[in-house]
Amino acid sequence: MKYAILVNKKRCTGCWTCSMACKVAHDLQPNEWWLTVRTIGSGAGIDEPAGQWPNCTMSWQPVYSKKCMHCADRVAEGEEPHCVYNCPTHALSFGNLDDASSAISKRMDDLINRGYRIYKLPKWEGTRHNIYYADI
Ligand code: SF4
Ligand code: SF4
Repeated sequence: MKYAILVNKKRCTGCWTCSMACKVAHDLQPNEWWLTVRTIGSGAGIDEPAGQWPNCTMSWQPVYSKKCMHCADRVAEGEEPHCVYNCPTHALSFGNLDDASSAISKRMDDLINRGYRIYKLPKWEGTRHNIYYADI
């Protein structure tokens, strides 16, 4: 079994619902986050776009910390992780990448066929393993 999460960056709207779902479900402390959402923009702030009007750009990247345990108890009961289940835009997929017929494998294949590139964050970021990103 190779459980993984696939993030379709083109569907992520930066709403932080995934982060809040994780925080509430795992009863985390106010300043504790196992999943945060990085704004890819100017770098000046959480909602600051890059570029000059009208050519502004901004996108978001959910970043999983090493504390994330893929909601093992929930997955053992056949449910999706809280962050995946609660994402309102279906930007997140979860499943077994060793199974070519799993939903996550099919979604990854579909995105690759549509020209998306699949990548992981570099090791020096110190984030959770088996988190994949799709972007075009
Ligand atoms: S992954 Fe989904 S829930 Fe999380 S910030 Fe993006 S759109 Fe919102
Ligand atoms: S998989 Fe579970 S533990 Fe990991 S970030 Fe999502 S909700 Fe939190």
